[in-house]
Amino acid sequence: MSAVTINIPLVYQERMKQLEHKLQCMSQTLKSNEGYAQIYEIYNQNKNVHQIISDTLIKVSLAMQGLKQNVGLLRTFVVEHLENIQNQLKEQFQLLLNNVQIIQHSKQCLQGMTEKILMLERSLREVNEKYNTEKERRKIMHNNLIELKGNIRVYCRIRPCLPINRQKLLNQQERVFKPQESQSAVFEEVRPLITSVLDGYNVCIMAYGQTGSGKTYTMMGPHSECETENHTELGIIPRAAEELFRLILEKPEESHSVEVSILEVYNNDLYDLLAYDSHSGLCLKRDIVIGKDGKSYVPSLTYKHAAYIEDVLDLVKKGLQLRVKHSTLIHANSSRSHLVVTLTVTTSAKSGETVDTFNSQKQKSIKTKLQLVDLAGSECVGMSGVQGVALREASFINRSLSALSDVLGALAEHRTHIPYRNSKLTHLLQDSIGGDAKLLVMLCISPCQKFTTETLQTLGFGTRACQVSRVPVKKKH
Ligand code: ADP
Ligand code: MG
Repeated sequence: MSAVTINIPLVYQERMKQLEHKLQCMSQTLKSNEGYAQIYEIYNQNKNVHQIISDTLIKVSLAMQGLKQNVGLLRTFVVEHLENIQNQLKEQFQLLLNNVQIIQHSKQCLQGMTEKILMLERSLREVNEKYNTEKERRKIMHNNLIELKGNIRVYCRIRPCLPINRQKLLNQQERVFKPQESQSAVFEEVRPLITSVLDGYNVCIMAYGQTGSGKTYTMMGPHSECETENHTELGIIPRAAEELFRLILEKPEESHSVEVSILEVYNNDLYDLLAYDSHSGLCLKRDIVIGKDGKSYVPSLTYKHAAYIEDVLDLVKKGLQLRVKHSTLIHANSSRSHLVVTLTVTTSAKSGETVDTFNSQKQKSIKTKLQLVDLAGSECVGMSGVQGVALREASFINRSLSALSDVLGALAEHRTHIPYRNSKLTHLLQDSIGGDAKLLVMLCISPCQKFTTETLQTLGFGTRACQVSRVPVKKKH
C-alpha cells in the first residue's frame, strides 16, 4: 500500500510551530512551578489535617459537654445518696440511744427482780421445809388411819335392784355401797390406798363375787375395757392408774417409773397377756419360781413401761383382748379366769440422793406393787349348769378361790404357815396379801333372788377376810 502524503497548509504549520514553542515555554514554566505544586499539595494536606483536627476538637468538645452533664448527674446522685445515708444514720443513732435507755432501764429492773428472786428463793426454802415436815406428818397420819382400819378391808357392792334382805351379813362388811352408788363414789373409798403405794406399801384391790355380779364393771367399767367415752363409768383399774400418775406429779422431788404387767390365771396356769406367740397369736404361758431371797418371781414376765395413764389403758386393753372367755348359762360373756393387772412403781430420789421410806430409812430406790384383780366368778358349778371343759374351768376357779379363802383363814388364825403356794393365784398375790401389804376385797353381789346361795357364799368370804387380825401394819423395806 502506498503512503498517502498530506499537505499541511503553511499557516497551520506556522501555527503549530508557535504552539510547540508555547508548549515548550509552558513546560519549562511548569517545571519551575513544580515547587509551588508541592507546596500546594502540602498546603492541601495540611488543610486536611487541619480539618481533621478541627473535627476532632469539635468531637472532643461535644464529649466534654456530655461528660460535664454526666458528672453533674453523678454529683446530684451522690449528694442524694449521702443525704439518705445521713438520715438513716441519724435514725439508727436515735434507735441506739433508745435501746441504750431501755437496757439501762432493764438493768435496773433486773436488779430489782434478782432481789425479788432471792427473797422468793428464801421463802421457797422455808415453805419447802414446812412442806417436808407436813409431808412426814401426812404420811404418819395417813398410815395411822390405814392401820386403824386394818391391813385387810372388805367392801361390798350390790348391783341395783337387790330384792332380798341380807342385812345381818352385810353389817359385817366395813362399807356397803348402795345399788345406785356411782363408780366415782366407790373409787373415793379406794383412793387412800393408792397413796399408800407411793408411801412404800404393796397394795392389792380385788373384786370377788359370782359371775354377773358386777366384778368387771367395778374393776374396769361397763364394757370390760378401760376405753369408754363416758368417764363417769370408768372402774377402779383406770381410776387407780390415773390417781397413781396424779400422785406421782405431786412428787417432783422423786423420780418414778411405772411398769405394767398383766397376767391371767386360767385352770391354775399363768398366761402373760402382754406376750404373744407370733405363730398361734396366743399369749405365752409362765410359771412362778422362788428366788434365792425366798421371794416369788415370774421369770420372763413382760413388764411394759408406762409413762402416762394412756399407756396403762392401752396395755390393759391389749391384754383384755386375749383374756380367755367362756360362756355359761348364767352370764353370756363370763370370764372364766382371774385377771391380775400389776403396776410396779420404782421410786428413786433425783440427783442421786436417797429416798425416805415410811419408817425414815434411806434407800436408793424402792419398788412397790399395786395389784388389781378381777377374779373369775365364784358361783357353784351346779348352778351354772356347765359340763366338760367348762366344768373343769369352774372346778379350777373354785379351788383357787378356796385357796384364797384358806390364806385369809390362816392369816386370821395367825398360823405360822400361810398356804400361799396351794394355788397359782395366791402364790402370785403373796406379796399383796398379809404381812405389810394392804388388801381391799370388793364383794360384788348379784341382785337376783335366785342367787341367794352365791350371795351368801360371797358374804361369807368377806366375813372371813374381815376376821383377819387387825395387826399394825409393818412397813415395807
Ligand atoms: P361379772 O364381771 O361379775 O361377771 P359384770 O361386771 O360383767 O359381772 O356385770 C354384769 C352386767 O351388769 C354388766 O352388763 C354390767 O354392765 C352390769 N352392772 C354390774 N354392776 C353394775 C352397777 N353397779 N351399775 C350398773 N350396771 C352394772
Ligand atoms: Mg367379769
